[in-house]
Amino acid sequence: MKSVTDLGDLRGQRVLVRCDLNVPLDGDTITDDGRIRASLPTINQLREAGAKVIVLAHLGRPKGKVNSEFSLAPAARRLSELLDAEVTLADDVVGDSARATVEALADGQVAMLENVRFEPGEESKDDGERSELADKYAALGDAFVSDGFGVVHRKQASVYDLASKLPSAAGGLVEAEVEVLQKLTGDAARPYVVVLGGAKVSDKLNVIANLIRTADTLVIGGGMVFTFLAAQGHEVGKSLLESDQIDAVKGYLDEAASGGKQIILPTDIVVVPEFAADAPATVVRADEMPKDQLGLDIGPESAERFAAVIEKAHTVFWNGPMGVAEMEAFAKGTRAVAEALTKVDGLSVVGGGDSAAAVRDLGFADDDFGHISTGGGASLEYLEGKDLPGLSVLAD
Ligand code: ADP
Ligand code: MG
Repeated sequence: MKSVTDLGDLRGQRVLVRCDLNVPLDGDTITDDGRIRASLPTINQLREAGAKVIVLAHLGRPKGKVNSEFSLAPAARRLSELLDAEVTLADDVVGDSARATVEALADGQVAMLENVRFEPGEESKDDGERSELADKYAALGDAFVSDGFGVVHRKQASVYDLASKLPSAAGGLVEAEVEVLQKLTGDAARPYVVVLGGAKVSDKLNVIANLIRTADTLVIGGGMVFTFLAAQGHEVGKSLLESDQIDAVKGYLDEAASGGKQIILPTDIVVVPEFAADAPATVVRADEMPKDQLGLDIGPESAERFAAVIEKAHTVFWNGPMGVAEMEAFAKGTRAVAEALTKVDGLSVVGGGDSAAAVRDLGFADDDFGHISTGGGASLEYLEGKDLPGLSVLAD
């Protein structure tokens, strides 16, 4: 991959930089600005090189339609504060406002286009549609820097197609993330434990087949747990469940058993009658979940067992909270896992937007961990050995 410095003299050049500014929002308040902070070094490097910096980013899933609820305005404001410099946000993505905004930039100044996902071409499955949008982005710049690590697994116009339209390079964030992931796929120090949780059950279930080949132990928490428990024939009540994945999960359990790998599931679960922060919670055995309740966290016994396994590892990759960590009552499992990661003698990596937000929210510092990755899905796909379109397009 080419680096920013390989792009030559950038003074006066219009440089489009794809960042991942998909921050969690409460109204228009950013609850974790980690991804914006992670984007600063590359943006500053471009400013210092005298480039006219044009940031491309997405927020949420507006699905190809303009929707002010998903405006990048909060991200632009925060970026401006953190850079201590003006950041002009265009009113559109590739329209008159975008062109005028770019036109007005002086060397070293920063502008942002509106949410790229306002454009239907951005996430289109049609190569022609994406390419057409990428041409419009390319018309606004002289070079492209890909630094949105959280989206490099997406074949999208501002991630993939644009890179073949202009001289392109990987930004420092993408380089740093890839460097850590290489350590996890190369000869990782053993025991190597992967901890999976969170809510994107079907996405993450797919990665398990590959992860049980690379890691020694897989620890499962979060919403994914219930598909495993169901695969073992247990009742899961009203919990998150992907019924159509039960057979696949049975296969993973068999494969792990025959391959001498361990899949560790919780033995107790925190359940509530309905999804609410103040719902009356009880702890039940994982194989005796009541029909009329749902599980929102792993129980204390499981938290202790998970922590013991993690602490003994020399390499740990963790993606996905163990429970609904946004609610204090269901954050205990996530806290225990985070705490255990801080004690790892070796490399500990936290990946995923919500996971990173959870550990910061629980009061952990970024340097308590070996690395906090800005990308959950991207990291997982890399670890799976998949081809990431946003990276392979940058290969020289
Ligand atoms: P990441 O962003 O770190 O990759 P995900 O987006 O997959 O993680 O999942 C995070 C979400 O998972 C959180 O919003 C959390 O509330 C939710 N979650 C975790 N455990 C459960 C559960 N048992 N039931 C429902 N939601 C859960
Ligand atoms: Mg998430």
